[in-house]
Amino acid sequence: MNSESIVRNAPVDGAFRIIPRAEHSISRRDISPGALRVLYRLREAGFRACLVGGAVRDLLLGGHPKDFDVATDATPEQVRAQFRNCRLIGRRFRLAHVVFGREIVEVATFRGSSDDGSGDRHLVDGRLVRDNVYGSIEEDAVRRDFTINALYYDIADFSVRDAVGGMDDLERRTLRLIGDPEQRYREDPVRMLRAARLAAKLDFEIAADTAAPFATLGPLLAEAPPARLFDEALKLFLSGYGLASFRALERYGLLQHVFPATARALSGGGSGAFRHLLEQTLANTDARVREDKPVTPAFLFAAMLWEPARATAQALIDSGSDASIAWPSATARVLREQAQRVAIPRRFTLAVEEIWSLQPRFASRTKKRVFRLLEHPRFRAAYDFLLLRAHESAELAELAQWWTEAQEIDQAELATRLNAVPAPANDEAAPPKKRKRRRRRKASSSQASSSE
Ligand code: ATP
Ligand code: MG
Repeated sequence: MNSESIVRNAPVDGAFRIIPRAEHSISRRDISPGALRVLYRLREAGFRACLVGGAVRDLLLGGHPKDFDVATDATPEQVRAQFRNCRLIGRRFRLAHVVFGREIVEVATFRGSSDDGSGDRHLVDGRLVRDNVYGSIEEDAVRRDFTINALYYDIADFSVRDAVGGMDDLERRTLRLIGDPEQRYREDPVRMLRAARLAAKLDFEIAADTAAPFATLGPLLAEAPPARLFDEALKLFLSGYGLASFRALERYGLLQHVFPATARALSGGGSGAFRHLLEQTLANTDARVREDKPVTPAFLFAAMLWEPARATAQALIDSGSDASIAWPSATARVLREQAQRVAIPRRFTLAVEEIWSLQPRFASRTKKRVFRLLEHPRFRAAYDFLLLRAHESAELAELAQWWTEAQEIDQAELATRLNAVPAPANDEAAPPKKRKRRRRRKASSSQASSSE
């Protein structure tokens, strides 16, 4: 095993282990053209340039990374000077984005591990709120989160460089935080969610000392910025490993800090139908991601918060509220509570409210109401949601079945059948006016048609 002696800024962790080209599996053919151009250009300009992070990890595991991150000793301004198609972004972490058509290559300058007093590194209560101290590649490695995320593919000689035992952990399929776990989680509590997400995605175990602080430090997640938790929630549940991520969050006791109402509902007795709805939603979503079909956050949040909303509405109804008042007030309350943790943009909460508010409307099967519901712009999503609720009761299973058929049979036939159903007195179900021809709907399950 080779090791490289350290040239400047004595690093925390001594030397890099160098894995030469012949001894690892990364081939330039698997690296995106944009990333290769960035690496070569920086190298030609006399800078050090490496592929780093998730891309190196995934390539070593035989996967196909979606995005490629580059780390360099060039400052963001020096990077910009090399590329016409480059813009600088970020305040917390200043970065360069080099754009090639639809591909964006993120280029970060090596971060230092010590405070030089310039104010470019800023900690509040141990939390890292700003980190723009530049440093050596050795320092850059130890400030990354997990050992397997701190491997560098060096374009100078096509070797992989490992200062933290990442190669061994890849082999052991272990997710291990670099440094003192407690301190690293205090710097950035979202690392706990990243641990659960990456363990789920890669099917790795979280090392015991990396998972140990979850129980005591999990509550710090309540202080993470809700906008960042929204981004992280999408990565957790809409990146193709949603079901595994959900199970990991539950197993590690982290779900309660991000979706408190969901976690409470799941731990209550009689939560079987809700668990089924949630797991089925996530499994369907994973399948859609694998097939490159679009998925929307609205359906995900509708599922995550369904039981809390349903139970809250039911409690209001039980204490005398009219359903027409109980439902909107329950949904508003549940969404407001969730917003304290995860900032769900308005366009998604509107869609969530609509999917929920249509649920009670499936129960009335008078002709006018049935046809009205079939034509509702959010019918598809609401119906898909109804299918997922079929485990709640035998009545709902029957209802879901009925609505499936209602879409399969001829609309004239449906109208005839519905004429046989007497309308309740308060239903202003109209006598058959002249109806336009209705478009027939196919009853294939496509939950993500709940477009925003
Ligand atoms: P994914 O497959 O989800 O993209 P990733 O590891 O590439 O996984 P990114 O969020 O793209 O995740 O981050 C890129 C790299 O930046 C990581 O591999 C890691 O080295 C570093 N990094 C990201 N987030 C943190 C963090 N919170 N603390 C320390 N290092 C981080
Ligand atoms: Mg990445």
